[in-house]
Amino acid sequence: MLILIATPIGNLGDLSPRAQEALQQCDLLLCEDTRHTGQLLHLAGIKAKEKRSLHKFNEAEREEEVIQLLHAGKAVGLVSDAGTPGIADPGARLVARCHAEGIKVSIIPGPCAFVAAYALSGYTDEAFQFLGFLPKTRNERSKLFDKMREYSGASIVYESPYRIKETLTEVDPQWEVVMVRELTKIHEQVVRASAGELLQQLADKEVKGECVLIFSPSKKEKPSLEELVQQVHHVRESFSCSVKEAIEAVAKARGVSQKDLYRLIIRG
Ligand code: SAM
Repeated sequence: MLILIATPIGNLGDLSPRAQEALQQCDLLLCEDTRHTGQLLHLAGIKAKEKRSLHKFNEAEREEEVIQLLHAGKAVGLVSDAGTPGIADPGARLVARCHAEGIKVSIIPGPCAFVAAYALSGYTDEAFQFLGFLPKTRNERSKLFDKMREYSGASIVYESPYRIKETLTEVDPQWEVVMVRELTKIHEQVVRASAGELLQQLADKEVKGECVLIFSPSKKEKPSLEELVQQVHHVRESFSCSVKEAIEAVAKARGVSQKDLYRLIIRG
Protein backbone atom coordinates (compact mmCIF):
# COMPACT_ATOMS: atom_id res chain seq x y z
CA MET A 1 0.00 0.00 0.00
CA LEU A 2 0.88 3.66 -0.23
CA ILE A 3 1.53 5.37 3.10
CA LEU A 4 1.56 9.14 3.44
CA ILE A 5 3.95 10.08 6.22
CA ALA A 6 3.77 13.51 7.86
CA THR A 7 7.14 14.93 8.91
CA PRO A 8 8.10 17.89 11.17
CA ILE A 9 7.56 21.50 10.09
CA GLY A 10 10.51 22.68 12.16
CA ASN A 11 10.98 20.67 15.31
CA LEU A 12 12.49 17.23 14.84
CA GLY A 13 10.82 16.10 18.06
CA ASP A 14 7.52 16.11 16.18
CA LEU A 15 8.53 13.07 14.13
CA SER A 16 6.22 10.47 15.62
CA PRO A 17 7.30 6.94 16.55
CA ARG A 18 4.88 5.55 13.93
CA ALA A 19 6.42 7.83 11.28
CA GLN A 20 9.93 6.69 12.23
CA GLU A 21 8.90 3.06 11.96
CA ALA A 22 7.28 3.56 8.55
CA LEU A 23 10.27 5.53 7.19
CA GLN A 24 12.52 2.66 8.20
CA GLN A 25 10.32 -0.16 7.02
CA CYS A 26 8.79 0.85 3.71
CA ASP A 27 10.35 -0.80 0.64
CA LEU A 28 10.52 2.51 -1.21
CA LEU A 29 10.38 6.07 0.11
CA LEU A 30 9.16 8.72 -2.31
CA CYS A 31 10.56 12.11 -1.32
CA GLU A 32 9.84 15.61 -2.60
CA ASP A 33 13.59 16.13 -2.30
CA THR A 34 15.74 13.09 -1.50
CA ARG A 35 18.57 15.22 -0.07
CA HIS A 36 16.24 17.13 2.23
CA THR A 37 14.61 13.94 3.54
CA GLY A 38 18.07 12.33 3.68
CA GLN A 39 19.01 14.97 6.27
CA LEU A 40 15.91 14.28 8.34
CA LEU A 41 16.61 10.55 8.25
CA HIS A 42 20.21 11.14 9.21
CA LEU A 43 19.25 13.35 12.20
CA ALA A 44 16.67 10.80 13.33
CA GLY A 45 19.10 7.91 12.89
CA ILE A 46 16.88 6.16 10.35
CA LYS A 47 18.09 4.09 7.42
CA ALA A 48 15.57 4.01 4.58
CA LYS A 49 15.67 1.01 2.25
CA GLU A 50 15.42 3.01 -0.97
CA LYS A 51 14.62 6.63 -1.81
CA ARG A 52 13.34 8.11 -5.06
CA SER A 53 12.16 11.60 -5.85
CA LEU A 54 8.56 12.56 -6.44
CA HIS A 55 8.05 16.28 -6.89
CA LYS A 56 5.70 18.50 -8.85
CA PHE A 57 7.87 18.28 -11.99
CA ASN A 58 8.06 14.46 -12.19
CA GLU A 59 4.86 13.47 -10.38
CA ALA A 60 3.12 12.47 -13.61
CA GLU A 61 6.00 10.49 -15.15
CA ARG A 62 6.87 8.69 -11.88
CA GLU A 63 3.27 7.60 -11.36
CA GLU A 64 3.35 4.56 -13.69
CA GLU A 65 6.40 2.94 -12.14
CA VAL A 66 5.11 3.54 -8.60
CA ILE A 67 1.73 2.01 -9.45
CA GLN A 68 3.51 -1.09 -10.84
CA LEU A 69 5.47 -1.46 -7.58
CA LEU A 70 2.32 -1.03 -5.50
CA HIS A 71 0.54 -3.69 -7.59
CA ALA A 72 3.54 -5.96 -7.01
CA GLY A 73 2.87 -5.69 -3.26
CA LYS A 74 5.57 -3.21 -2.25
CA ALA A 75 5.02 -0.84 0.68
CA VAL A 76 5.65 2.67 -0.62
CA GLY A 77 6.02 5.66 1.72
CA LEU A 78 5.51 9.24 0.57
CA VAL A 79 6.95 12.31 2.30
CA SER A 80 7.22 15.97 1.38
CA ASP A 81 9.91 18.37 2.60
CA ALA A 82 7.83 19.24 5.64
CA GLY A 83 4.39 18.61 7.05
CA THR A 84 1.64 16.58 5.48
CA PRO A 85 2.16 15.35 1.90
CA GLY A 86 -0.57 16.48 -0.50
CA ILE A 87 -1.26 19.69 1.46
CA ALA A 88 0.22 22.46 -0.71
CA ASP A 89 2.73 19.75 -1.62
CA PRO A 90 2.91 16.90 -4.15
CA GLY A 91 1.11 13.63 -3.51
CA ALA A 92 -2.60 14.16 -4.20
CA ARG A 93 -2.33 12.98 -7.80
CA LEU A 94 -0.76 9.67 -6.81
CA VAL A 95 -3.34 9.17 -4.06
CA ALA A 96 -6.18 9.70 -6.56
CA ARG A 97 -4.59 7.18 -8.95
CA CYS A 98 -4.30 4.62 -6.14
CA HIS A 99 -8.01 5.02 -5.38
CA ALA A 100 -8.79 4.49 -9.05
CA GLU A 101 -6.59 1.36 -9.12
CA GLY A 102 -8.05 -0.08 -5.92
CA ILE A 103 -4.70 0.26 -4.11
CA LYS A 104 -4.94 0.87 -0.37
CA VAL A 105 -3.74 4.26 0.84
CA SER A 106 -3.06 5.00 4.48
CA ILE A 107 -1.61 7.93 6.41
CA ILE A 108 0.57 8.50 9.42
CA PRO A 109 -0.80 11.89 10.40
CA GLY A 110 1.24 14.59 12.05
CA PRO A 111 2.37 18.19 11.57
CA CYS A 112 0.47 20.42 9.19
CA ALA A 113 1.14 24.16 9.27
CA PHE A 114 -2.38 25.44 8.57
CA VAL A 115 -3.99 23.15 11.15
CA ALA A 116 -1.48 24.21 13.81
CA ALA A 117 -1.96 27.88 12.87
CA TYR A 118 -5.75 27.71 13.11
CA ALA A 119 -5.54 26.00 16.49
CA LEU A 120 -3.30 28.87 17.66
CA SER A 121 -5.62 31.57 16.29
CA GLY A 122 -8.11 31.18 19.09
CA TYR A 123 -11.05 31.36 16.69
CA THR A 124 -14.05 29.50 17.94
CA ASP A 125 -15.84 29.10 14.57
CA GLU A 126 -16.03 25.48 13.61
CA ALA A 127 -15.89 26.20 9.89
CA PHE A 128 -12.89 27.71 8.10
CA GLN A 129 -11.39 27.43 4.64
CA PHE A 130 -7.82 26.69 3.58
CA LEU A 131 -6.89 28.29 0.25
CA GLY A 132 -3.30 27.06 -0.21
CA PHE A 133 -0.61 29.55 -1.27
CA LEU A 134 -1.73 33.10 -2.01
CA PRO A 135 -1.33 33.66 -5.78
CA LYS A 136 1.63 35.73 -6.95
CA THR A 137 -0.20 38.25 -9.11
CA ARG A 138 -2.12 41.13 -7.60
CA ASN A 139 -5.11 40.44 -9.84
CA GLU A 140 -5.44 36.82 -8.73
CA ARG A 141 -4.95 37.80 -5.11
CA SER A 142 -7.71 40.38 -5.46
CA LYS A 143 -10.08 37.63 -6.69
CA LEU A 144 -9.16 35.47 -3.73
CA PHE A 145 -9.79 38.34 -1.30
CA ASP A 146 -13.27 38.69 -2.85
CA LYS A 147 -13.83 34.99 -2.14
CA MET A 148 -12.71 35.51 1.47
CA ARG A 149 -15.10 38.45 1.84
CA GLU A 150 -18.01 36.29 0.72
CA TYR A 151 -17.13 33.51 3.16
CA SER A 152 -18.45 33.75 6.71
CA GLY A 153 -15.55 31.99 8.49
CA ALA A 154 -11.80 32.53 8.54
CA SER A 155 -9.64 31.93 5.43
CA ILE A 156 -6.18 30.45 5.85
CA VAL A 157 -3.35 30.86 3.36
CA TYR A 158 0.34 30.14 3.08
CA GLU A 159 2.33 33.25 2.16
CA SER A 160 5.94 34.18 1.49
CA PRO A 161 7.40 36.40 4.25
CA TYR A 162 8.78 38.72 1.57
CA ARG A 163 5.27 39.56 0.29
CA ILE A 164 3.37 39.84 3.55
CA LYS A 165 3.55 43.62 3.87
CA GLU A 166 2.40 44.16 0.28
CA THR A 167 -0.43 41.67 0.81
CA LEU A 168 -1.62 43.48 3.93
CA THR A 169 -1.95 46.71 1.97
CA GLU A 170 -4.34 44.98 -0.44
CA VAL A 171 -7.05 44.14 2.09
CA ASP A 172 -9.38 46.22 4.22
CA PRO A 173 -7.21 47.55 7.09
CA GLN A 174 -10.00 46.54 9.47
CA TRP A 175 -10.07 42.86 8.55
CA GLU A 176 -8.82 40.82 11.44
CA VAL A 177 -5.64 38.91 10.59
CA VAL A 178 -3.64 36.30 12.45
CA MET A 179 -0.02 35.95 11.37
CA VAL A 180 1.59 32.71 12.53
CA ARG A 181 5.32 32.51 11.92
CA GLU A 182 7.98 29.87 12.44
CA LEU A 183 5.70 27.25 14.02
CA THR A 184 7.49 24.79 16.34
CA LYS A 185 10.78 26.74 15.98
CA ILE A 186 12.65 29.02 18.39
CA HIS A 187 11.14 32.21 16.99
CA GLU A 188 7.56 30.97 16.83
CA GLN A 189 5.23 33.98 16.78
CA VAL A 190 1.47 34.52 16.72
CA VAL A 191 0.05 38.00 16.16
CA ARG A 192 -3.67 38.66 16.06
CA ALA A 193 -4.53 42.20 14.98
CA SER A 194 -6.33 44.18 12.30
CA ALA A 195 -4.56 44.19 8.92
CA GLY A 196 -3.78 47.91 9.39
CA GLU A 197 -2.29 47.40 12.86
CA LEU A 198 -0.23 44.42 11.73
CA LEU A 199 1.11 46.42 8.81
CA GLN A 200 2.15 49.17 11.23
CA GLN A 201 3.85 46.67 13.52
CA LEU A 202 5.82 45.23 10.59
CA ALA A 203 6.58 48.57 8.92
CA ASP A 204 10.22 48.88 9.97
CA LYS A 205 10.92 45.15 10.20
CA GLU A 206 12.11 42.54 7.78
CA VAL A 207 9.68 39.62 7.96
CA LYS A 208 11.56 36.34 7.95
CA GLY A 209 10.73 32.65 8.18
CA GLU A 210 7.72 30.60 7.19
CA CYS A 211 4.30 32.15 7.55
CA VAL A 212 0.64 31.31 7.66
CA LEU A 213 -1.95 34.09 7.41
CA ILE A 214 -5.53 33.80 8.60
CA PHE A 215 -7.95 36.45 7.37
CA SER A 216 -11.29 37.14 9.03
CA PRO A 217 -13.20 39.74 7.02
CA SER A 218 -16.38 39.08 9.00
CA LYS A 219 -14.71 40.06 12.27
CA LYS A 220 -14.10 43.65 11.24
CA GLU A 221 -16.07 46.54 12.65
CA LYS A 222 -18.21 48.54 10.23
CA PRO A 223 -16.20 51.58 9.06
CA SER A 224 -17.59 54.97 9.98
CA LEU A 225 -18.51 57.39 7.16
CA GLU A 226 -15.82 59.78 8.36
CA GLU A 227 -13.23 57.03 8.13
CA LEU A 228 -14.29 56.13 4.58
CA VAL A 229 -14.05 59.74 3.41
CA GLN A 230 -10.61 60.08 5.00
CA GLN A 231 -9.45 56.89 3.31
CA VAL A 232 -10.60 58.10 -0.12
CA HIS A 233 -8.59 61.31 0.32
CA HIS A 234 -5.62 59.34 1.56
CA VAL A 235 -5.69 56.96 -1.43
CA ARG A 236 -6.14 59.87 -3.87
CA GLU A 237 -3.13 61.70 -2.46
CA SER A 238 -0.90 58.65 -2.02
CA PHE A 239 -1.48 57.26 -5.50
CA SER A 240 -2.12 60.59 -7.28
CA CYS A 241 -5.31 59.17 -8.77
CA SER A 242 -8.71 60.72 -9.48
CA VAL A 243 -11.46 60.90 -6.84
CA LYS A 244 -13.44 58.38 -8.90
CA GLU A 245 -10.57 55.88 -8.92
CA ALA A 246 -9.98 56.38 -5.20
CA ILE A 247 -13.68 55.80 -4.48
CA GLU A 248 -13.64 52.61 -6.57
CA ALA A 249 -10.59 51.29 -4.73
CA VAL A 250 -11.88 52.12 -1.25
CA ALA A 251 -15.39 50.78 -1.93
CA LYS A 252 -13.90 47.48 -3.10
CA ALA A 253 -11.44 47.16 -0.25
CA ARG A 254 -13.96 48.06 2.47
CA GLY A 255 -16.89 46.13 0.97
CA VAL A 256 -19.18 49.19 0.77
CA SER A 257 -21.34 50.43 -2.08
CA GLN A 258 -19.43 52.53 -4.63
CA LYS A 259 -22.56 54.52 -5.36
CA ASP A 260 -23.14 55.40 -1.69
CA LEU A 261 -19.52 56.38 -1.23
CA TYR A 262 -19.63 58.53 -4.39
CA ARG A 263 -22.75 60.29 -3.15
CA LEU A 264 -21.15 60.88 0.25
CA ILE A 265 -17.96 62.38 -1.18
CA ILE A 266 -19.46 64.42 -3.98
CA ARG A 267 -22.28 65.87 -1.87
CA GLY A 268 -19.93 66.39 1.03
N1 SAM B 1 2.74 20.27 3.49
C1 SAM B 1 2.97 21.38 4.38
C2 SAM B 1 1.94 21.36 5.50
O1 SAM B 1 1.47 20.29 5.84
O2 SAM B 1 1.62 22.40 6.04
C3 SAM B 1 2.99 22.69 3.63
C4 SAM B 1 4.05 22.77 2.60
S1 SAM B 1 4.09 24.29 1.77
C5 SAM B 1 5.17 23.92 0.42
C6 SAM B 1 5.14 25.29 2.73
C7 SAM B 1 4.40 26.46 3.41
O3 SAM B 1 3.76 26.02 4.60
C8 SAM B 1 5.34 27.56 3.87
O4 SAM B 1 5.63 28.47 2.82
C9 SAM B 1 4.55 28.22 4.97
O5 SAM B 1 3.57 29.09 4.45
C10 SAM B 1 3.85 27.00 5.61
N2 SAM B 1 4.71 26.47 6.68
C11 SAM B 1 5.46 25.36 6.65
N3 SAM B 1 6.13 25.21 7.83
C12 SAM B 1 5.80 26.27 8.59
C13 SAM B 1 6.15 26.71 9.90
N4 SAM B 1 7.02 26.04 10.65
N5 SAM B 1 5.60 27.85 10.38
C14 SAM B 1 4.73 28.56 9.64
N6 SAM B 1 4.36 28.19 8.39
C15 SAM B 1 4.88 27.07 7.87
